[in-house]
Amino acid sequence: MEILKKITECKSIVDDIKKRGLTIGFVPTMGFLHEGHLSLIRKAKKECDRIFISIFVNPLQFGPGEDFKNYPRDMKRDISMAGNAGADYIFYPAAKEMYGQDFKTAVEVKELGDIMCGEYRPGHFSGVATVVLKFFNIVKPDRAYFGQKDYQQLVIIKRMVCDMNLDVKITGCPTVREKDGLALSSRNKYLSAGERKSAAVLFGCLTEAKDMIKKGEKDLEKIRKTIMTKLKKNRSVRKVDYFDFRDPGTLEHIKRVNKENRNILAAIAVRIGKTRLIDNMIIKV
Ligand code: AMP
Repeated sequence: MEILKKITECKSIVDDIKKRGLTIGFVPTMGFLHEGHLSLIRKAKKECDRIFISIFVNPLQFGPGEDFKNYPRDMKRDISMAGNAGADYIFYPAAKEMYGQDFKTAVEVKELGDIMCGEYRPGHFSGVATVVLKFFNIVKPDRAYFGQKDYQQLVIIKRMVCDMNLDVKITGCPTVREKDGLALSSRNKYLSAGERKSAAVLFGCLTEAKDMIKKGEKDLEKIRKTIMTKLKKNRSVRKVDYFDFRDPGTLEHIKRVNKENRNILAAIAVRIGKTRLIDNMIIKV
């Protein structure tokens, strides 16, 4: 496996792979890899000839006061995990390499980037879309793999690819979870032992909402209020950013289950101590 730090280096390897008629699979990450990331790499490996992953803690997608500086990093461990999972190249640029001195462009996916997490992290999704478009232009992947764990991000990237006529197939991959349902995330490292236990509440709420819908409850606003009350009573939940039901394609609010909703996205974002955690579930009705 090769580690590439320069854009020119990466582009020349990509050109060579393309000349040989081989396909490229790409998994963008911020590193501190876990089984969730590895599941994307393994999926890419099954479908593509050469696998690139990027490890880049993207300053553009962090707001003031967020965890850019403290974001967990462990390159040595990442290299060995990525290699074992089947990555051929790690693109590991410095921020200076990506944004130079005079970077002025931003990609904005309107509306989709301003709701849900976008409401609480202004500019976040523009930072994500901008870096992902840059990666796509550097790595020129045939396929790129994203986790459903960050469902809003997946919808936004799909929108951007469609709107900008990019020749890359986006694949969403299922969320990998701990035994108690907590979605794997690099940020779980921030949780104290007590907070880690409490963090199961996210999956608990999603499951409870699913069960209520499966039992026939059509009034999603009623379910939402029940879950919000439960969350507010939970002492380890410092703040609830949102618990919402949305259309999985458009991310529009859904207030009632009706014949048109075949799938409903339940999404949650809460703060446990200082850590902001998100999760979601697609509920089939
Ligand atoms: P990150 O390093 O957190 O930016 O994540 C890189 C990619 O891994 C994104 O497409 C995430 O959605 C995906 N990912 C993160 N956590 C998980 C998980 N628990 N299961 C599946 N994919 C994940």
